[in-house]
Amino acid sequence: MKKDKILVIGACGQIGVELTLALRKMYGDANVVASDLREEHELLKGTGPYVSLDVMNKEMLHVLIIRHNITQVYLLAAILSATGEKNPLLAWHINMQSLLNVLDIAKEENIDKVYWPSSIAVFGPNSPMQDTPQHTIIEPTTIYGISKFAGERWCEYYNHRYGVDVRSLRYPGLISYKSAPGGGTTDYAVEIFHEAKEHKQYTCFLSENTYLPMMYMPDAIRATIELMEADASKISVRSAYNLSSMSFSPKEIAAEIKKHVPEFTISYEPDYRQQIADGWPNSMDDSLARADWGWKHEYDLAKMTADMFKNI
Ligand code: NAD
Repeated sequence: MKKDKILVIGACGQIGVELTLALRKMYGDANVVASDLREEHELLKGTGPYVSLDVMNKEMLHVLIIRHNITQVYLLAAILSATGEKNPLLAWHINMQSLLNVLDIAKEENIDKVYWPSSIAVFGPNSPMQDTPQHTIIEPTTIYGISKFAGERWCEYYNHRYGVDVRSLRYPGLISYKSAPGGGTTDYAVEIFHEAKEHKQYTCFLSENTYLPMMYMPDAIRATIELMEADASKISVRSAYNLSSMSFSPKEIAAEIKKHVPEFTISYEPDYRQQIADGWPNSMDDSLARADWGWKHEYDLAKMTADMFKNI
């Protein structure tokens, strides 16, 4: 039997750090190679192999995969929604070419499994906003969403045409305390905790009643690993699964934070990110993920808020 050897690309980002640490616990430190453009993240230092890698350099990526006998690739490198709107062509180029490089090498080298995350950003203003279904109108209006939707199509294509075992989730906004978020529209839900703790005040860049699907990082990491561990016969979606746990507005999270920091106040100064958020779902229907491979979330708003304050 072939031994699992994992490559995480974009390992120093908000998800990458925690995912790499979780994978190292499961597969053994030496069997999970972390890589990123950036310097190695503090939390990864001394926990396992680290390689400096630009995923856009296909030749380097190919050599790395062969040299380390990689059997699974987690591709997390991307330009996120808010940053993408500042330089759309760059976001398109990086988000697409990184995925195509990985999928193509996976095909050539018979990589066992590939993971690549999609996002709620694939949906647009013409999609149903409440309990957005898995299959519905998908007309994204941000370059980030357009690149994620195109990426989903490529994943399904590589699976159907070449048999590449690629799996994907449409993550909601992710909330975590270990590594900082990387320029998304849901970053406010992380910043708000740090500002509440340090300054008892937060000015939110979204308006008070903007509902968005959100998830606490431990749930997202577990979902990712459970999807990747599931028997291939259970995976009926080869584009990307809707994934959900909670939905809240800035006003609601502020009220929950006040239970821990009674003097906390919030004000609202919506900026360009409001328009991005307005095109996204308020909540998601993830019943297919629950039925196919048994997804169950653990954290709601209250449980996540208590855990955040315990840890920041
Ligand atoms: P992030 O910005 O925090 O991390 C991305 C990492 O990729 C960074 O460390 C960056 O240095 C690295 N990177 C960028 N370009 C690279 C390149 N050319 N070569 C190698 N590394 C490169 O992002 P994240 O929040 O950890 O997101 C990871 C994935 O999950 C992305 O695909 C993102 O679109 C998706 N996602 C994230 C969220 C969220 O809320 N964080 C929600 C939905 C989907």
